[in-house]
Amino acid sequence: MIELEGVSKVYRTGALELRALDAVDLHVDDGDLVAIMGPSGSGKSTMMNILGCLDVPSSGAYRLDGIDVGRMSDNRLADVRLQKIGFVFQSFNLLPRTSALANVELPLVYAGGRDRRGRARRALERVGLGDRGDHRPNELSGGQQQRVAVARALVTDPSMILADEPTGNLDTASTTDVMNLFVELNESGRTVVLITHEPEVAEFAKRVVTLRDGRIVGDERR
Ligand code: ADP
Ligand code: MG
Repeated sequence: MIELEGVSKVYRTGALELRALDAVDLHVDDGDLVAIMGPSGSGKSTMMNILGCLDVPSSGAYRLDGIDVGRMSDNRLADVRLQKIGFVFQSFNLLPRTSALANVELPLVYAGGRDRRGRARRALERVGLGDRGDHRPNELSGGQQQRVAVARALVTDPSMILADEPTGNLDTASTTDVMNLFVELNESGRTVVLITHEPEVAEFAKRVVTLRDGRIVGDERR
């Protein structure tokens, strides 16, 4: 369960102050599939970075599963990230010089645990790429690369998947594939929060939150 209460984020560059998020309240229930929409500059990535414990609010509270993560040390934040959150990015962010399987295994190198290779293999199978483990990213299509990235997000068995414009670099067919994958993961109980500015992508969500100038201006359940 995600709870943002009165969350603001102010960026300072020299004497300039920019309020990227302005007293945002947002609750997301476990098992929801939420799209966050809004024009460029509306604060979507800033919100994602805070939800993903990659950054902390300037003010306000963020509780994740009841834990106050707004005030944690960087080390503890890193642990929360590893345990609870899987990330998917617009540009896939796969390591280019190594195999799909090694890319998927990487979070387990940090998280530890047994049978890392087997777990990575199963995550790749889960996204329909069990036969592509030996391929390097540049030997795969964009849609396949993003599915590898989804497998990497899944491999630690996080309760929540956060995706920032996951279909921004994909054609229509791969967009549908990747979104169907998120729907499937959501149906098996995982919370999914994704950022998009494409209305066709938001169609896949159960709830659509709209940001403008750092504020929530729309919140619809469908
Ligand atoms: P979106 O993802 O919706 O395009 P962002 O969260 O990236 O919006 O940005 C919101 C606002 O904050 C924009 O005006 C942007 O220029 C500004 N901003 C984002 N990141 C930084 C930063 N690290 N330093 C200064 N300003 C930033
Ligand atoms: Mg952005």
